[in-house]
Amino acid sequence: MFDQSAIDALRDAPVTPGRLLIGGDRREAGDGATLVVISPLNGARLTTIADATSEDVEDAVHAARAAFEDRRWAGQPPAARKKVLLEWADLIEREWLDLAVLGVRDNGTEIAMAGKAEVGSAVGAIRWYAEAIDKIYGEIAPTADAALGLIHREPVGVIGAIVPWNFPLMIGTWKLAPALAAGNSVVLKPSETASLTLIRIAELALEAGLPKGVLNVVTGRGARCGQALAMSMDVDALVFTGSGPTGRRLLEASAKSNLKRVYLELGGKSPNIVFDDVEDLAEAAKVSAAGIFRNSGQVCVAGSRLLVQKGIARDFTDAMARIASEMRVGDPLDLGTQAGAVSSEGQLAQNLEHVRHAQEQGATVSTGGTRIMQETGGTYMAPTVVSDVTPDLRIFNDEVFGPVVTVTPFEDEAEAVLLANATEYGLAAGVWTANLGRAHRMIRAVRAGVVHVNTYGGADITVPLGGIKQSGNGHDKSLHAFDKFLDLKTAWIKL
Ligand code: ADP
Repeated sequence: MFDQSAIDALRDAPVTPGRLLIGGDRREAGDGATLVVISPLNGARLTTIADATSEDVEDAVHAARAAFEDRRWAGQPPAARKKVLLEWADLIEREWLDLAVLGVRDNGTEIAMAGKAEVGSAVGAIRWYAEAIDKIYGEIAPTADAALGLIHREPVGVIGAIVPWNFPLMIGTWKLAPALAAGNSVVLKPSETASLTLIRIAELALEAGLPKGVLNVVTGRGARCGQALAMSMDVDALVFTGSGPTGRRLLEASAKSNLKRVYLELGGKSPNIVFDDVEDLAEAAKVSAAGIFRNSGQVCVAGSRLLVQKGIARDFTDAMARIASEMRVGDPLDLGTQAGAVSSEGQLAQNLEHVRHAQEQGATVSTGGTRIMQETGGTYMAPTVVSDVTPDLRIFNDEVFGPVVTVTPFEDEAEAVLLANATEYGLAAGVWTANLGRAHRMIRAVRAGVVHVNTYGGADITVPLGGIKQSGNGHDKSLHAFDKFLDLKTAWIKL
């Protein structure tokens, strides 16, 4: 897709400080506060971003409200809105390399992955929802002759979107694209550790012709700027991807403010279940390793809990450990790198602590468990396989959000189901078996928003992604994403 010399040419390019985007204007925070952005590649200062005050957030909400009320966006013909979003996707595509490199310098994802999963997904999602704009119909109810019942689908209003650092463009546009396509106004709050690419694409949206005030960006600390958005009396719905504790705070904030709707995607501890009739053990190990170690495990759907049938448990663990130890962890801007940096010092410390605690509780570290490449100044961790993990161990239940997979053996299908469903999460799962009947039984029995069969990951924009249990509610991707952004309104007409 790109060549190494083009990437290298951008490696040290100066990065413009990130500013707020409110009502089409770029602004500093009201009190001038900024946050320093540290690159996880080398620990160096990359730039600064504005740390929005609660007044800035209210300004952004007011701008979004004004844009929604005067229908400068929702009131445009569907074909015109589609044209703007398609133009936006084109502009992003034109900056593909710059955005990919900027994103990698900001959050440490390996460039091969960032190009495809970040910029590629953003362009794809915007085009997909743009094309849907003029294909969504209302309904006519089956009434008696004397009445006509119309069911309209209307935009919800002002959407607050709070997104994380692991895939800012992909997850950001999974929210932005359907929200804007549906005619809403948005106040976007990127993560304070990965705001730069989202700030840039919001500027490109203006260039593409999105009216001012329809998309606003507030950056800064979660507890200050994110919390202000959650507490706003004029935000109609919040869409969020991030941690469980923050999700709980958002629900509390909704209850304490205006009962805004809250849709949460809160990660998981996803089981990846390998039966002894798996067709190709080596291939299963290879795909499973990618399913946990890519982006250094900083993937909400990562298959972080391997459940392996007893007869093949040793062979499979050895295969995973071998792949993990041979993975090319390194400079995220090198096209050959398979796993880049962990996003921050804090995240790395947490990952290592999870592994240390598991060891203390009796688990075995088959490979990894250490910080590596410290001489670079960056935050890197060796891909880690922890075996002999029983369900009572903390690491069996807690999301690590790092390059760490646990292995737990099981006897039969019934035990696999029990173990798979034994955590508070329900986001994703994998099942490896050559038995079609078993595959379908497992799809039904495993409580998760997505079950991959004989693969792990890779589901595209056409299918929904959302969690059950404490992984959250609501769905990103597919036409079902519109359920969060379009309301039903009934018109009952006497004839
Ligand atoms: P992570 O551990 O992945 O950083 P967080 O839930 O802390 O997950 O962060 C996800 C997003 O939520 C970020 O944009 C962050 O700034 C925001 N956030 C964090 N704390 C709060 C809060 N109290 N209120 C609103 N947003 C928050």
